[in-house]
Order: sequence, then structure tokens, then C-alpha cells
Amino acid sequence: MLGGGVTGMDGGKLIVLTAPLTESIDHAGYFIQMSMASLPIWMEGILNKKYPKWRDVERNQDKSARYMPAGLRVLEASLLREYSPDDIGVCYPDDLDAFIGPNTRVVAISTHNPLGVTFAAGVYASIFGSNKQPINSFYAREMFARVKASPFRRQFKVIVGGSGGWQISQTNTWEELSVDCIVEGRSESRETLELFAKAVRGEAVPRQVEVGHPRDRHSILVPDKRTTFGVVEMTTGCGRRCQFCLPDLNPQLDVPKERIMAGVRANVREGNNQISLATEDMFIWGQVHTDTPFYFPNREALLNLYSDIVNTPGVEHHVLSHATIAPAVVDPVLIEKLTNICIDKSPIKIPLLSTHPEKRALVPLIGLETASVRVAKQIMPSKGVPFPIDEWPSVVIRGLEILNKNNWFPAMTLIIGNPGETDEDVKATLDLVYEVERRGLFAFFIPSIFTPLHDTRMEKKEGVTETDQLTPLQWQLMMKCWKMNLRPGQASWWGPMAWRLGAIGMWAYKLRKLNGPHFTWPMMMFASALPESVMAKMGKIHVGRPLHVKTRKELLASIKPHQWQHLREDTGDLPEGGPAPTPRSHRLVMAQAV
Ligand code: SF4
Repeated sequence: MLGGGVTGMDGGKLIVLTAPLTESIDHAGYFIQMSMASLPIWMEGILNKKYPKWRDVERNQDKSARYMPAGLRVLEASLLREYSPDDIGVCYPDDLDAFIGPNTRVVAISTHNPLGVTFAAGVYASIFGSNKQPINSFYAREMFARVKASPFRRQFKVIVGGSGGWQISQTNTWEELSVDCIVEGRSESRETLELFAKAVRGEAVPRQVEVGHPRDRHSILVPDKRTTFGVVEMTTGCGRRCQFCLPDLNPQLDVPKERIMAGVRANVREGNNQISLATEDMFIWGQVHTDTPFYFPNREALLNLYSDIVNTPGVEHHVLSHATIAPAVVDPVLIEKLTNICIDKSPIKIPLLSTHPEKRALVPLIGLETASVRVAKQIMPSKGVPFPIDEWPSVVIRGLEILNKNNWFPAMTLIIGNPGETDEDVKATLDLVYEVERRGLFAFFIPSIFTPLHDTRMEKKEGVTETDQLTPLQWQLMMKCWKMNLRPGQASWWGPMAWRLGAIGMWAYKLRKLNGPHFTWPMMMFASALPESVMAKMGKIHVGRPLHVKTRKELLASIKPHQWQHLREDTGDLPEGGPAPTPRSHRLVMAQAV
């Protein structure tokens, strides 16, 4: 063991691990973290009212944090391979003074959005006003200030990891936040341990380090501790190769089932009753580096995994994380069977939409990004595989039909202001959004403004930097999405009226000046000040044109014929004259091998 015995609360822990409070909590519900990442700090009072106890975190007997983000727990597990548990303290920012002492050599911080500059964060804060700092960025800064003010600051190094480290380097806020080193990459790597060893010895550390990603599924560490929201890693990477995507740059790996289950049991053992699997696309699990392309889901393996998770004694809630929509069209039977397994444990209820007896719903996060085939070809040509990207709008509509039928109401992200986006491209996306409405389908559309994320294949591209640069059509798309999103919450007779008056009042008071003249009519449409058909006749908005949507049978026929063998007979609509689907017995063998 390293550390030379300098341990104990009196002298402080050798290595202290922490994360912003707003990224650590999970007891106040699933939507609070999203709100904290998006709403500006001046709106914090609204959250305080709705979740009065959001700051009441649980601690272990030794004051250490009961729950921490999964990324920080992976770092802890990685360090525990070389250091004694007595050398490592994991605490909430409020408790830092109790853990940092003269013996402390490293304070390691995990954060995914310290300054509020990711896709959704920042955009809404900037729409809402002059103080653009999102709530979680405020709390992250408060944590950095506390570390900076420590009387022992000269004796330890501050190392920042997590997906938000790049924000500090890009904004050159090392000194301001008192950060010594930013680590990009996973903490399992040898380089991470060497970096910590250097800091522990009191040697200088580089300002920025890139560390390697595990190359095989067995090298991914699954922490044996409770994580925020019961997050257990399921896969890394994705494989669809969207140009703007950061996680896709990681190797495509799926974590072995036994490790996932150990992570689930660890959470339950430590008092967590909720589980969520971390993935970029849940449907690739069990089909990574097999003989079948990853975009034909391994139905048996997935059903087996999810069934074992939700039936683990102590698991009361389970939520889906990220997914893609094409697998729903490829295998609707999988969606139906997964629903039967998972929906009773979903804590999300949508009374106006769900046909479940208790109105439960499944809400995975799925990328739509654009419905302009022209833009899609440029930024995400493989988003819809095995279907050609030309069929993307039809894949989205048919996928949504299948999902909605099974009480899945996905949150779908859209990117506004893609580089080179024309009015025609925005109209194409509006057409799809209106088509969804016309067909009575539902998704929570989450529009955000294109931000060239560091290290992605699009990092050099220019995006829209201020909301007053948005065109009227881009504004309309954003406001139309939010107007539709409010539908499930407007069951009462007074709800829509109150919303309209509030929205118009807000526009008159503040937003009109802030967001420029292009915002006016989209805002009126949002507030339903006039019927949309009237506004369209006045030439103020674009009302979506009806889309020609291909049938599922036509879509399956658009898959490359040599891949037809991977389709499942029991899903119907199979193309005629192609190779026969793989026999079921062979698939079972594949499922058991995962
Ligand atoms: S489908 Fe999603 S996770 Fe996969 S590459 Fe595209 S954006 Fe990334």
C-alpha cells in the first residue's frame, strides 16, 4: 500500500474525492438534475419550493458521502487497488474541511458540467436572462472556492476529471478555480494511478493529461459502492459514429452481466432502491463484437439482463437511460417484452398518455437531432442503421409509433443551428415535429443549440453563440417543441390558460429584449395567442407539411439484403426473397454466452 500511514480524520485523508452537490444528489427525483443543469441560478427558488429537501443528503457514520456519481466511484475503486481505504475520503463539498488536513496530498474532483457549456445547459439559461450561470455551475464554483480557500491548499494538488474537465481548459480557468491538473479519460488506466502517485509524493503534475480507455470489457471497473441514481455502467462507445458525439470516440464495449449484477447488488446493499444502467445505446448490449452487427439487438440477452435487474430483491425503481430509435423498428417484439419486464418498476407516471393501469411510462433518452436528411447525411450518416439515412424521418415516426404503443415516451434531443443549416433544413425538422403531433404520437422534444464540443469530430465547426442569432424558423422549432412537451402536464382546464398568460407576461417583461425580434412570433405561437393556422396564413410561422412515411415493411426492405438474415421472423413484415432469419436456437446460445 502507498501512503506511508499518513491517515485519519485528524490529519485529513491522503486523497479526498468529491463532486458538486448538484451532481451527487439523487433523492429528490429524476428531473431535478436536468433542471439544475439548465435553469439559471436566479430561478433556484422555484426548485427550492418544489423540492424543499434537495440539499438533505445522507452520510455514512464517518461523515463520508453515502452516494456519489458513478464516475467518482470508479476512480475510488481504481485507487483502492493501490491505496488503503483509510487513505481515501469521499465526501460532499460541505464536508471538505473535515476531510482535508495537513496529510492531504490530492483533492480529486469529478464534474460533468462545471461551467454550464454543454448542449442543453447554457442554452436555456441564456434564454432566460442576464445571469446565465446554470444552477449546477453555481454549486460547482462554490465547491472549487471551498477547496481553494483551504488552509492546507499549498500541500495538495487539485485534479479534476469527469466529462466537464475540458470546460476549464477551454475557458482557461485553472487559476480562478485553483485547479492543478485536468484528466481526460477513464480512471482505470495505469496513467491515472501514476498521476496520483506523483501528486502523493508531492511532485509537480502536468496541467492536462489524457489517459487511456479500457480496451476490453473485462478491464472496466464496476464500483462495489452506492452510486448517484444507482448508475451502473452497461456499455461504453456506441458505433453509430455521429460527428458531434464525444462518447462514440470511446471503444465499443459491453460490461459482462455478472459485473453489472454485482454493481446492482452493491447499490441495494447500501440502501439504494433505484437502478439505472449507463449506456449510450442500451440496445447494443449483448451484441458487441459478435457475428451479428450491433444494430440488430440481441433480444434474449437484453431480456435476460433487465429481468434479473428489476427482479433483484430491493430494486424498487428502474429507469432507462440512452437508446436509439432504429432498434424499435428492427425488433418491436423486443420492445413489447422489455416493457412487460420493466414498466412496473418505472417511477415515471404520465397520466394523460400512458395506458398502463398505474399510468407508468418508460422515458429513454434518444437522439433525433435533425429531420433534414441533407444535414443528417453530413453529421450522422449511420444514426439509423441498418436503415439508410435517407429513411431517417420514416424510421423516427415508425419507431415512435412502436414505442408509444408500449408506453415508451422518449425524451428526444434536437440540435438547432447545425453548421450550414438552412431554412429548408429547419423546415424539414418542423415538418417531422408537426407530423408527430398530427399522428397523435408523443415524445418530449429537447431542443438545444449546436455547441461544438471539445474533442469531437466537429470541434472546429462554428455554431450559434447567442440566442439573438437564431432565425425565426429556428426559434419556432424551439418553441414548438416546448409547446408540445407541455401537453401531458396540461390536463387541468386552468393549466393552459395560466401558461399562456405567464408566457406572454414573461415575453413582455424580459424575453422580448433579450432574444431579439425573431423571437416574437414563435413566442406568440408558444403561448397560443392566435391559432397556428392564422399565424401561418399571416406568413408568421411555418406549419409543417405532411410527410410521406414509409411502412415498416418498406423500411425493412430498404436494409441491405445480406443483413436480412438478422431480422426476426416473429416481428413480421419481412422482405421477400432474402436469406432466412437466423434460427432461434442459435440466438439462445448467443444470449447465454454474454
Ligand atoms: S447514436 Fe448517440 S451515442 Fe451513438 S454516435 Fe450517435 S450521438 Fe453518439
